[in-house]
Amino acid sequence: MDFYQETLKRKEEMVKDLQGLIQIPSLRDLDTKTENAPFGKELRNALDYVLNMAKKDGFKTRDLEGYAGVVEFGEGDEIMGVLGHLDIVPIGTGWTFNPFGGEIKDGYIMGRGTQDDKGPTMAGYYAMKILKEMGFKPKKRVFLIVGCDEETGMSCMKYYNEHGEIPDFGFVPDADFPVVYGEKGIMNLSLDGDVQTKIVRLKAGERPNMCIGEASVTLLGYAQKDLFNFYLNTNHLKGEISELNGEVTYKIYGKFSHGAKPDDGINAAWHCLNFVGSAYQDEFASKTATLLRDWRAEPLGVKVFGSHMGYLTMNIGVVEIEHNHAHIILDIRYPNETNDEFIFNTISKTFESHKSELKVSLIQAKEPLFVNPKSTLVSTLDKIYRDYSKDLTTPLLTMGGGTYARSFKNFVAFGAEFPTRHRPEWVGQVHQADEGYELEQFYLATAIYAQAIYDLTK
Ligand SMILES: [Zn+2]
Repeated sequence: MDFYQETLKRKEEMVKDLQGLIQIPSLRDLDTKTENAPFGKELRNALDYVLNMAKKDGFKTRDLEGYAGVVEFGEGDEIMGVLGHLDIVPIGTGWTFNPFGGEIKDGYIMGRGTQDDKGPTMAGYYAMKILKEMGFKPKKRVFLIVGCDEETGMSCMKYYNEHGEIPDFGFVPDADFPVVYGEKGIMNLSLDGDVQTKIVRLKAGERPNMCIGEASVTLLGYAQKDLFNFYLNTNHLKGEISELNGEVTYKIYGKFSHGAKPDDGINAAWHCLNFVGSAYQDEFASKTATLLRDWRAEPLGVKVFGSHMGYLTMNIGVVEIEHNHAHIILDIRYPNETNDEFIFNTISKTFESHKSELKVSLIQAKEPLFVNPKSTLVSTLDKIYRDYSKDLTTPLLTMGGGTYARSFKNFVAFGAEFPTRHRPEWVGQVHQADEGYELEQFYLATAIYAQAIYDLTK
């Protein structure tokens, strides 16, 4: 069966349905939270959009009180799951496209969530729809599960695990092809303390899982223009100075990136600390910048390279300093060779031994995920990907991002980004400005998902 041809027959309606979903600004907004909308009005709208579309297409649906939804297909004892999400990360800055436009340009659909994760989720939906329209009768039940809170702690999947029917196996279209069989453990640590510093104010970062793309730091007195320009030049950064009522504010532009890949970003808040540390001989700022200077966390004593998953990574996601109180949140991703207890203890001791005023505490920790790369699930998905993409060389993957795959047992991440397709420079990555998704990848992913559901439930 050629699912790619079946997909192409439907490409106009696929794009239209995806555009409609991109145009819903489904950011978590607890100010508009109501009984069946635990994450606010827009996420409720996005969930209704998907469930209504599925009802119209003749699927059975279930609404888990606004936490998540299920589109169901087929009969049988076992349940295969396809798990995506409808929530998006904040817009950030630097967009040249309308983030909620869904505009098409040169074969790309542009907007927040096109790739993470509305496009891939829509591909999963169309995979089921194509199979249904072709008259396929799966011998298992197939669930498309859409969650509404993936980006902020996955409380939707906690709710699903308590109230929903648990799938036996499945995949998550929220990462890369071929197959992601391992994911790093994730820890969020907070560093808090009353500190001696010249910093009047430094507030930057929206959440732990994003590298801070821009930050401002305010101090008393006149601007140290020459030192600041020297700092910007030597570090290849852009920035600006403003002065008001005896205060000076230095703004630094870095680069946003996903918190799992801090080495792809430039942390502007870290640069603010580092600049103040040297320009103002501020001991707190310089000590903190020194301890946090490396994305592999070597100065913290926890540098480790995993044989499947690569380096432990550290992102500084939130920095808030005001009234001589500091609050910093770190996002640490670690391979399966180490564990959260070791990391926590080592980092705590490091801050103590450097006589830092900051005290380390644990906000949350999630174990790494690891599925045998030789299992039926992984080998089936792997083969389908090779058949459709003709990519015979890219190895199976592990990653640092915490996808939904860890919500259930026997789940792996599977697409929907193709390592073989080149992204033009004007298209941003996941969580960055000008996020976009190539339509050709959208169609090919849909075909691959249809084949995967077919092969695993026939
Ligand atoms: Zn995602």
